[in-house]
Amino acid sequence: MSLSLLEHSSYAPRRFTRRKTLDHLTPAARSANMAKIRATETSPEKLVRSKLFNQGFRFRKNDSRLPGRPDIVLPKYKVAVFVNGCFWHGHDCRRASLPKTNSSTWQQKIEKNKLRDQKNISDLRSQGWSVHVIWTCSLAAGMNEISDVLCGLRKNL
Ligand SMILES: [Zn+2]
Repeated sequence: MSLSLLEHSSYAPRRFTRRKTLDHLTPAARSANMAKIRATETSPEKLVRSKLFNQGFRFRKNDSRLPGRPDIVLPKYKVAVFVNGCFWHGHDCRRASLPKTNSSTWQQKIEKNKLRDQKNISDLRSQGWSVHVIWTCSLAAGMNEISDVLCGLRKNL
């Protein structure tokens, strides 16, 4: 049995007990709750978090106290990481190509997102944060890059 399967089976019972304590929620409220959790826990983010965690880094998730609510924040190193979906954040790659219909509406939305991202990044940098963006199309490469940076920081502490 692989380690991930072992972890999964040992966590399953705990998840059930936790679910019982949520029973004060109406089914509609719970389903809205679950949808929200799914929205913040997209799998590329999970992948990056678990890789960092396995390398011994500890972090906060979706820190709403910081500009842009970075996906991963490593307070010890003052590093903020965004894991950006190529389409929504307007990456210059094939994954980000616009749908053929309503393309100007999409274009506007995505331009707005890009401007907001730029503002958040510059706000974070002006507060002394080092900011890294990992694009989902280059997840493995981006992951290696951030690992190298963090390992370098760890050595200098
Ligand atoms: Zn991309």
